[in-house]
Amino acid sequence: MNTRVLPASDAAIREAAARIRSGELVAFPTETVYGLGANGLDASAVARIFEAKGRPGDNPLILHICSPEQLRPLIDGEPSERARRMMDAFWPGPLTMIFPKSARVPANVTAGLDTVAIRLPLHPVARRLIEEAGVPVAAPSANRSGRPSPTAAAHVFEDMDGRIPLILDGGACAVGLESTVVDMTGATPRILRPGGVTAEQIERVCGSGEVDPAVMRPLAEGERPRSPGMKYRHYAPAGELTIFSGEAGRVERAICAEYDRAAAEGRRPLILALEGHLAAYGGRRTESLGADEAEMAHRIFAVLRDADALGADVLFSEAVEARGLGLAVMNRLGRAAAFHIVEV
Ligand code: AMP
Ligand code: MG
Repeated sequence: MNTRVLPASDAAIREAAARIRSGELVAFPTETVYGLGANGLDASAVARIFEAKGRPGDNPLILHICSPEQLRPLIDGEPSERARRMMDAFWPGPLTMIFPKSARVPANVTAGLDTVAIRLPLHPVARRLIEEAGVPVAAPSANRSGRPSPTAAAHVFEDMDGRIPLILDGGACAVGLESTVVDMTGATPRILRPGGVTAEQIERVCGSGEVDPAVMRPLAEGERPRSPGMKYRHYAPAGELTIFSGEAGRVERAICAEYDRAAAEGRRPLILALEGHLAAYGGRRTESLGADEAEMAHRIFAVLRDADALGADVLFSEAVEARGLGLAVMNRLGRAAAFHIVEV
């Protein structure tokens, strides 16, 4: 299959919508990362997403809608008062909420679960595409399973060339990491995946909220995750990544020592550090994580892809404070490192 990359003009969006209506896959920009979209009410179109990504069949997808009115037919019962407050505060935006599913949602969208994940994105191209398609659009990140999420059309092309007919190019994604996934079915909102909407913001709106413990640690042997996505190694660069956490000076010294040892062994190490710390690493090879939380969120997946492009076979990263957007950055870094975090 020939994969075309088109700037997201009106005509290209109309073509993409027609393809979605007829059961094909189209990649499109959102404010979080690029999505790989299909008609979310068509089970055979949805099956193509799993095939193109190589995604395990037990990892459910998010349904994307373009107006709050599209929510009700997809869920069982009315949204709670609290869910409505969340919608008012964070939709459109990088928040995904989990509700009991209605019978209209095909079983493969939710990987057989009786709950469904739904988001109303902010990106104008995503919204026009969903509106024009006239159906909820099932869309995971448009990467091959296990690769970093794509934050530019070129990343999608790297992973999906020959697998899908069309990529809408809308430039770089503003947030740069995936939506916050919040389970709204229990007594308190529970964050299953941190993202662009922070735990602090959710607590302010709901008066309560908790972060699932599996967000910052590996699952125990045999543990059943609340979100199937937690089971899978994600965002893994080809090089082996270790994170160093602790007081800044100690972290810098530990990373320099590990770097020098790796270099002496003939390996190709790379340091990932806060912009303001780069000078501390002397002539060693470094890549900036960014100057602040928002920039780190924006850059993290591109940094992981760059590490591969640079041929780094061992990576040492500074830890990021797990507060605000930093929680999401540390979750992605932690998962890329299989939670190999050294306290110094
Ligand atoms: P992605 O499509 O790559 O953004 O991943 C979607 C994430 O949402 C995955 O981590 C899924 O496991 C999670 N997810 C989707 N639907 C559900 C659900 N019904 N219950 C729990 N987690 C879900
Ligand atoms: Mg993904």
